[in-house]
Amino acid sequence: MLKNPDYITARRLLLETISTVGTEKLALCESGGRILAQDLVAEENIPPFDRSPYDGYAFRAADTEKASRETPVTLCILEEVPTGAVPTVPVTEGTAVKLLTGAPIPTGADTVIPYELTDFTDTAVTVFAPAKPGDNVVRTGEDVRKGKLLAHRGDVIDPGTAGTLASQGIAEPEVYRMPKVGILSTGSELVEVAETPGPGSGKIRNSNRYTFEAVLKALGCETVYLGIAGDSAEEICTLLQKGFAECDAVITTGGVSVGDYDLTPEAMEMAGVELLCRGVDIKPGMACVYGVCQGKPVFGLSGNPASALTNFYVVGVPALRKMMGYREPLMPKIKVTLSSGFSKKSPKTRFLRGTLELKDGTVRMALPKEQGNVVLSSAIGCNVMAVIPAGSGPVPAGTELEGFLL
Ligand code: AMP
Ligand code: MG
Repeated sequence: MLKNPDYITARRLLLETISTVGTEKLALCESGGRILAQDLVAEENIPPFDRSPYDGYAFRAADTEKASRETPVTLCILEEVPTGAVPTVPVTEGTAVKLLTGAPIPTGADTVIPYELTDFTDTAVTVFAPAKPGDNVVRTGEDVRKGKLLAHRGDVIDPGTAGTLASQGIAEPEVYRMPKVGILSTGSELVEVAETPGPGSGKIRNSNRYTFEAVLKALGCETVYLGIAGDSAEEICTLLQKGFAECDAVITTGGVSVGDYDLTPEAMEMAGVELLCRGVDIKPGMACVYGVCQGKPVFGLSGNPASALTNFYVVGVPALRKMMGYREPLMPKIKVTLSSGFSKKSPKTRFLRGTLELKDGTVRMALPKEQGNVVLSSAIGCNVMAVIPAGSGPVPAGTELEGFLL
């Protein structure tokens, strides 16, 4: 078991341990935001035939070579082809076919002119300038060529992917199953959100459950609330076992420091968890224990709300993204410029939470002053984290740091 490794080592250890939780075929209308478990290779050309992008007339460009305002060329209209129908006659010298937007180009024709650029009657169309072969013809396969790799296994089904899957006739893509994640709160001081902790009772509301419900829902995971366990290894163990029976992963909060009542690691071992790592060398979020039970990861986080959340963003979210099937488990890295400074030294790697804001045309990261373990309210509205390397002094406004989007 590792003790207090740097966060990159801790994350790598978890990523190596974790795999996806199977795949399923899902109705395309339910698939937005899910992760593809198949490569998407085009089996059909889109569009499947040469077609007109306008209401207009198709003819042979050669017929209009000498056309001008002074010497217009008049062509005889053979038929009209509405969208969804097909031409029945070939275009020959001196003739044209009227097409509505999306209608197939008739054989013999190599160009289309929008009707607004012509004079026309029901039987004839007059053209005032030379047309070029290929003008205003949408070619077969112009959007998608048969055989092209359109999306990879591990890519998110975004709107473009969903529409492209539909145009290829894939009504039930193969996607990764979403992990079901159990949430277990530990601490004899906790009461449920609807309860009012009595004055002088020493009780507080269980906020961590809701913080993690929100993080997990945003990721797209299903959640199972396992309940509150008091500071008793047996109680924690019982709920952990329930979690491993019902879920693919479990998150616990509380009881991971080194005090007399920090019983979560012991309870994990009672429940059959192999402990992988205790503590990560970051601030906030140092106290934690990670383990695995029958291939299912367990993230034991601090009870301190901001500590738990930071630790989870740094290590837990990438691990869950790998479980979800993402090709790239890490959140996108960005460079951020601080709009205000951070005055403390950072002997450990420090993660700052903040908000991207647009000021005078430049995106900067605004920092709440309070960046500690216990202040969760300063995480409200945060959408980015920045990393101050271990051993840094105070960082002034304008400093550029590496960060990642939440
Ligand atoms: P622990 O990690 O158990 O030492 O708890 C650290 C701090 O976090 C203590 O002040 C706890 O009361 C608080 N805490 C623990 N669990 C929760 C929770 N679920 N919601 C809010 N605060 C909590
Ligand atoms: Mg506790």
